[in-house]
Amino acid sequence: MKPLDYRFGHGDGRFDVTHYDLDLDCNVARNRLNAKAVLTCTARESLGAFELDLHGLHVAKVTLDACKIAKVTHKSGRLRIKVAKELPAGKGFVVTIKYAGKPTGVPGIFGPAGWEELTDGVLVTAQPYGAASWFPCNDRPDNKASYRVRLRYAGSYWAAMTGTLISHKERGGTHQWLYEQTEPMAPYLAALHIGPGMPESIASDASVPIEIVRPSMVNVHAGSSFARQGEMVSTFEEMFGPYPFDSYRVVVTEDALEIPLEAQAMSLFGANHAVAGWPNERLVAHELAHQWFGNSVTVADWRDIWLHEGFACYAEWLWSETSGGRSTASHANEHWLRLKSQQQKVTLADPGPANMFDDWVYKRGALTLHALRGSVGDETFFRILREWTTRHRWGVVATADFVALAEEVSGASLGELFEAWLDRKPLPPKP
Ligand SMILES: [Zn+2]
Repeated sequence: MKPLDYRFGHGDGRFDVTHYDLDLDCNVARNRLNAKAVLTCTARESLGAFELDLHGLHVAKVTLDACKIAKVTHKSGRLRIKVAKELPAGKGFVVTIKYAGKPTGVPGIFGPAGWEELTDGVLVTAQPYGAASWFPCNDRPDNKASYRVRLRYAGSYWAAMTGTLISHKERGGTHQWLYEQTEPMAPYLAALHIGPGMPESIASDASVPIEIVRPSMVNVHAGSSFARQGEMVSTFEEMFGPYPFDSYRVVVTEDALEIPLEAQAMSLFGANHAVAGWPNERLVAHELAHQWFGNSVTVADWRDIWLHEGFACYAEWLWSETSGGRSTASHANEHWLRLKSQQQKVTLADPGPANMFDDWVYKRGALTLHALRGSVGDETFFRILREWTTRHRWGVVATADFVALAEEVSGASLGELFEAWLDRKPLPPKP
C-alpha cells in the first residue's frame, strides 16, 4: 500500500531554508503582489536540483549565489531549480526569487489555504498547505527558519504579521512595515492580516506583552470571550512552562471567520468569536495553547497532529476548571461517552491526512492526556508537560518522543497505555 502523503506533495527534504527575507509590495484593492524573496539555505545532501513551493504567482527571475543555474521550471506549484554544478552536502547557498501576480489560496483536501481576500483587506494563514500562496518556501513543518518581512501598500489599513514589529512608517498614505521573527518558525505558521484595526495592549501578569489588533466596533474587554485572556496566559505559563515567544498578538478580523486560526506568537479570530460564553472562550484558550503545543513544539510530520490538537483541546478543559467552570473530568466524561457511540475507523497515531482536523482526533488526543494524568498523577503529569515544552522549545517532534519523555519523567512503563490510546482503534475504558 502506498504510504499516505501527509505533506500534500509539498516540501523538499534534500535541503533546509534557514532564513527567509521577503520584500512584499501589495496592492490591496486590486489584490496584486510584487515581491522578492531571498532564501538562505543549506544542502542536506549533494544537490543537482532542488524544489520550492510557490502557488499561482508568476516567477520573473531566479538567481543563485553558489553556482550557475542550468534550468528553472515552475509547474503545478513547484519551482524546480537545476544547478549547473552539484552543490555538496552541507553547502550553504542563497537563492533569490522575484515574483508577482494575484495571490490565491492553495487548493487541497480542506479547500483553499493561505492568501484570502476579505471584504476589506487580506488575511493569510496557512495551516497546513497554504504557505506557498504568498512566498516561495520549503513547505515542510520540520523546516523552521527565521524571517524578515518588509511590506508596503497604500491605504489606511493596519498590518499585523507574525514576528516583532521593528518599524512602521506612513507617508502620503503609503505604509511601510518591517517585521522580524527570530525564533525558528515553520512556513505554515507565517501569517499576515491587512485590514481595519488598531493594536491595543492588554494588562496582565503574564511574562510577555499581550496585544489585540481589532476593528473599533468589536469589544474585546469585559463581556467578550477575550476578557480573561491575560489570566489565561498566566495560568498556562504555570501549567505548561514559560510562554515560548517574545509576545502574544491576537488579531480580530471585521469579517466573521468559520474557525479561528493559529500562527506563531499570534492567533486570528473573526468578529463572531468575540461574543462572550464558553463556545468562544474555549477557542481563545485553544489557540493560545497552540503557542506551546504546535507553534513552539511542532510535529515533524502531520501524522502526529494529536500532539497539537489533543494538547490544545485538553488545555481548554484545564482552563474550564481553573476559571471556575466545569471540571476537566466532566469534559473528559462527556467526550468519552460521545466517542464511545462512534465507530473508530482509524488510529490516533495515523489518522490519515483527510482526517487530521477531525474533532475525533482532538477529543481522543485530549482523553489520551487525561488517561496519562490519571496514571501518573497530577504532579508528574504537569512535570511531563513542562519538560516537553522546555526540551523541545522551538523544535520538531514525533509521538515516540512524547512517549519516551513521559516514561523518563514518570519512571513508569507506559507502553501499554499509549498503545491502547494511540495505536489501536477501539476506545479504551473511561480514564
Ligand atoms: Zn487547534
